[in-house]
Amino acid sequence: MPVIETQIRTLTCDGKECDKTITYDMKTHNQVILDPVNAWLLNTRIVSTADGRNLVFCSSLCEASAVESGLNDPPQLKKVVSITDVGGSAAIKFAAAAAKKAADATRALKEGQNVNLG
Ligand SMILES: [Zn+2]
Repeated sequence: MPVIETQIRTLTCDGKECDKTITYDMKTHNQVILDPVNAWLLNTRIVSTADGRNLVFCSSLCEASAVESGLNDPPQLKKVVSITDVGGSAAIKFAAAAAKKAADATRALKEGQNVNLG
């Protein structure tokens, strides 16, 4: 039995609320592209983002909807906030109060008292 290798391509539009998608054997690429049912493929563009994603759009409208929704934007990185940026003394007092509350609850549990964990 001969070895048969095929390459399958799937294109799915990343436009907001767009349902255009197609999967086909690359050997039939030219027939698929020229089929009037798949006319949207002739207008397809792939946008590479700075963070390495490749977004597919079937039209300018879908591309614009993605830009509007922020899909093209890089993912938001978690921001590290310095304790001095948010008023260090208030944050320290809050943390100290939380630690004291936990210590008091532990002591009360060891003494057999009722503890409200809420
Ligand atoms: Zn689309």
